[in-house]
Amino acid sequence: PIALTQCAKTFHGTRVLEPLDLTIGAGETLVLLGPSGCGKTTTLRIVAGLETPDTGGTVRFGDDDVTRLPIERRQVGMVFQSYALFPNLTVRGNVGYGLRIAKTEATIARKRVDELLAMMRLEAHADKPIHQLSGGQRQRVALARALAREPRVLLLDEPLTALDARLRDTLRREMNTLLRGLGITTVYVTHDQAEAMELGDRIVVMSAGRIEQVGTPRDIYYRPANRAVAQFVGTIN
Ligand code: ATP
Repeated sequence: PIALTQCAKTFHGTRVLEPLDLTIGAGETLVLLGPSGCGKTTTLRIVAGLETPDTGGTVRFGDDDVTRLPIERRQVGMVFQSYALFPNLTVRGNVGYGLRIAKTEATIARKRVDELLAMMRLEAHADKPIHQLSGGQRQRVALARALAREPRVLLLDEPLTALDARLRDTLRREMNTLLRGLGITTVYVTHDQAEAMELGDRIVVMSAGRIEQVGTPRDIYYRPANRAVAQFVGTIN
């Protein structure tokens, strides 16, 4: 499991994240849900190693204390808003990008890329440029790229947010199937309740730099801890 203990974050004297404790179970999809500015992305960036928690906070991956390790030494895979694929590279180029950066030996890299293309049903599209792909295919390329170096955790930051509503509904369903199939430890940031409910094994509801509630989608919906959670997840209007 991954464990954040007493992780707070202050930027220029302003506390944006109160000390928080969070555990992400092996193979679990944990969704961070909350309105804009509540600290979801900062929490994700602390897991990634893109931010260091304020003094006293620790981040553990299993038995390893990674608090001071930079992102490139943490074995994380990330997917950002609308995937941020490289438009000038082919599908194969995108998926293999991290392996090239890591100077993985060419035959090993090629084998891994082929494996990922097969896993994500992209073999037929391997040599196409990104702009020729459908939304669902792009989503699978982004996941394949994030998985290339066998990360210990997959971090997804609002991957569906920039898409139009209809595509988002379709891809949410497909994302669910993909994540369940992968069984990889995942942290998924969103401000969209429907996404959180469908994708989360557990949901962390945040507001103003604090955790309001942690629970299964059912817990959060049927037993909201307070009025703010109830309102945000739509139990009450
Ligand atoms: P959004 O969905 O809008 O991205 P969020 O819940 O992910 O929101 P964060 O991005 O974690 O929220 O931001 C939390 C707060 O911290 C915000 O008020 C933001 O302006 C502030 N913040 C984030 N990063 C920095 C930074 N590098 N320097 C200063 N303030 C920051």
